[in-house]
Amino acid sequence: MTIDYNSLFIGGEWVQPSSGTRITLTSASTQERLGSVPDTSEPDVDAAVAAARRAFSAPDGWPSWSAERRAAAMHGLADQLDARREEMAHRVSSQNGMPISLSSNGEAIFPAMLLRYYADLAVRVPFEEDRPGLAGGTSVVRREPVGVVAAIAPWNFPQVLAAFKYAPGLAAGCTLVVKPSPETLLDAFLLAEAVEASDIPPGVINIISGGREIGAYLVEHRDVDKVAFTGSTAAGRMIGEVCGRLLRPVTLELGGKSAAIVLDDADLDLAKIGQSFFAATMLNNGQTCFIGTRILAPRSRYGEVVDTVAALASSLTVGDALDPASQIGPMVSQVHRERVEGYIAKGKGEGARLVVGGGRPKGLDRGWFVEPTVFADVDNLSTIAQEEIFGPVLSVIPYTDVDDAVRIANESQYGLGGSVWTTDPQRGREVADRVQTGTIGINRYMPDFGAPMGGVKASGIGRELGPEGIVPFQQLKTIFC
Ligand code: NAD
Repeated sequence: MTIDYNSLFIGGEWVQPSSGTRITLTSASTQERLGSVPDTSEPDVDAAVAAARRAFSAPDGWPSWSAERRAAAMHGLADQLDARREEMAHRVSSQNGMPISLSSNGEAIFPAMLLRYYADLAVRVPFEEDRPGLAGGTSVVRREPVGVVAAIAPWNFPQVLAAFKYAPGLAAGCTLVVKPSPETLLDAFLLAEAVEASDIPPGVINIISGGREIGAYLVEHRDVDKVAFTGSTAAGRMIGEVCGRLLRPVTLELGGKSAAIVLDDADLDLAKIGQSFFAATMLNNGQTCFIGTRILAPRSRYGEVVDTVAALASSLTVGDALDPASQIGPMVSQVHRERVEGYIAKGKGEGARLVVGGGRPKGLDRGWFVEPTVFADVDNLSTIAQEEIFGPVLSVIPYTDVDDAVRIANESQYGLGGSVWTTDPQRGREVADRVQTGTIGINRYMPDFGAPMGGVKASGIGRELGPEGIVPFQQLKTIFC
């Protein structure tokens, strides 16, 4: 059964798109047609932004609601999402190839969790504070919502990354136009159904489709007050330039090429570390921004580390994303698989030693599959160690001592995630403190939604999640009394 939508969710209603063109969604695992949605044109963006503006500025608009009332509506939306968990996981995995075990425990669960977290935070943390003035009087410091937000998400974790924006945005009192990626729209339209069924007022969340041109039009729209973007560094740079010119607040969550630093005392027993190491280096078929795809191994145990990583990669079950047994699903699209395969060819061409994988898995004739691949003897300055591949391709890079490991970890344009593997947690902390990155784990890597997440250098500007994640959706106003 295919799923076809004929309208866009704007102003709390399903409205006719202004053009007749459509976007077709296909299965990454089978290449079959899954459904279609209308494409979005500029007049539709105008309508969505206008709806968000009305919902923001009306006398009884979203920001005028008490935090308690907003929180109740957000809890209601969370309930609506919970009621659609199974369908949500199915739609996400069918489209982008995310193993269903991951989408069921992430994409289908975390958005509701985030809505509840930020709803409760909005009630708990006052939006206004009276401060005694240093030279007398009182300063009232108000945290007001920034306004209409353009929330632009990528395809790899489409629901979670949209929720990173709308959950704190709603809590702050903002209204939003959400633009998902063209590869993952059926899940976005299911989110629209959940919003429609909830008590979130019309126009507070609008959901459009479209590709990068529509994204660019939305970013530059005269009535947008803030941009919250997750995606590639290349797109982030363009968006940053536009927002700089417009002096428009922007958060940019971009690419990564993180280091998993294996110290010389690390426990390499896959029975103990296999699952965490897999999650930290190959989660979601390698289509994850924060994973440590550069494995830094001490020369004293280099062969052992290569063998361990190779054993892990070759033990993985590769298959249809909807099969609960699959640990690695397909790449999101044909174009993306070609890109990943291009990097594998480049790795071979640049002299790295292919240890396992490198091809297409046997027996999987349909779908955009790539074998989990491990390269050894990789030079950290080579292309496969410097550029984000966004597939199940790991590079094992030798280092001489801890200083050398830290130097190599930091020898990257990116700084998003990372991990340190050691039996001495204190030593792990000391190394983690020296890595230039926004987040890093010791013997594991998994974001904590209660703590800030984001990158340094070309991995982005600003942070999402945690109490800090609400700040970019607020502006401060001081009233001297
Ligand atoms: P992408 O940059 O191609 O697209 C992301 C979104 O931005 C899509 O909705 C796209 O339509 C839109 N877009 C593209 N160009 C635009 C422009 N100039 N103006 C406005 N909108 C534009 O990225 P992708 O291929 O969908 O996602 C993969 C990338 O996202 C990877 O680089 C990955 O590392 C990154 N990512 C980062 C994080 C993080 O938290 N830092 C999380 C997940 C993914």
